Amino acid sequence: MSVDLTKLLRENIRNLKPYSSARDEFSGEAAVFLDANENPFNSPWNRYPDPHQRVLKTRISELKNIPAENIFLGNGSDEPIDLLFRAFCEPGLDQVVSINPTYGMYRVAADTNNITVAQVSLSADFELDYNVVLKAVTPKTKLIFLCSPNNPTGNALDSSGVLKIIEGFNGIVVLDEAYIDFCPEKSLLPTLDKYPNLVILQTFSKAWGMAGLRLGMAFAAVEIIEVLSRIKYPYNINILTQEKALELLSNESSKAEWVDLILKERTKMITNLKSYPFVVKVYPSDANFLLVKTHDPRGIYQFLVDQQIIVRDRSSISLCEGCLRISVGSPEENATLMEALDQLV
Ligand SMILES: *Cc1c(COP(=O)(O)O)cnc(C)c1O
Repeated sequence: MSVDLTKLLRENIRNLKPYSSARDEFSGEAAVFLDANENPFNSPWNRYPDPHQRVLKTRISELKNIPAENIFLGNGSDEPIDLLFRAFCEPGLDQVVSINPTYGMYRVAADTNNITVAQVSLSADFELDYNVVLKAVTPKTKLIFLCSPNNPTGNALDSSGVLKIIEGFNGIVVLDEAYIDFCPEKSLLPTLDKYPNLVILQTFSKAWGMAGLRLGMAFAAVEIIEVLSRIKYPYNINILTQEKALELLSNESSKAEWVDLILKERTKMITNLKSYPFVVKVYPSDANFLLVKTHDPRGIYQFLVDQQIIVRDRSSISLCEGCLRISVGSPEENATLMEALDQLV
């Protein structure tokens, strides 16, 4: 399958002349910078950040084994999600397909851009039927959103089904791998160069513990990365985020230890949660959270709030009747949760 970007892109985006910043036109080393109307005082915060995040991308390129030219960095994953709508979807005309239930941001970004979402239900055990997804595609469908491991269900989607969708669709497949560091063997990133219509989203907000920095990644063919780079805000990643991320990315061993510990805690939590009479089911998880079906989601949620413990009530979401979504915390936090739940028995 080849993607014809000239056909897929919105006409105005195809014709867009990007803003050219002072730092685009000259990016080398110099002694005197009088090109950007910066204040000469208050170094280093007086200087605009690198609009292309070259140093950070070089490091991420090593980390992910993906060429820097195939990497886009955003202010969280939310930024590439919104930019994909703005690049490919004509407001009021085009549509996208997503699975249901899934992450709420795809729908918010669609609504913001006046794009309709055709939602394809997962099965009762949250499996993907690639045929049903492909059948929901119309000539107006520009993007298909898949999320693996999926939020809020926790399971990784069967990758052969995901590949069938990528291979069977003429538009762009956006595969959100926000939780992939908890099951790295299931990532489709190593197949990226085979699929010109695949965009993989990852983030530093989960396993890397950098949610406060707001740094998300999109990996795709150069042609797609160039479009996203053309329409982003020129200085979308600020100096503090670029520098701090670079520093924290040297903590690869901490990240690995955190993931190990979180996975061990997840196993303990599953056993503990299953022992409560009000827990109907703990769904299998490939992520750092558990979807837990209970007899009384609202009551349990409110009881926990009264104990100053906040979980996510997902009971009004389709296929998630009775369900709370509980993040795996530190051993202490998880123990506090269990002590609170003990009082409900
Ligand atoms: C948490 C999460 C993200 C991460 O978003 P950021 O904007 O990078 O913090 C992306 N997708 C899903 C499905 C998530 O749950």
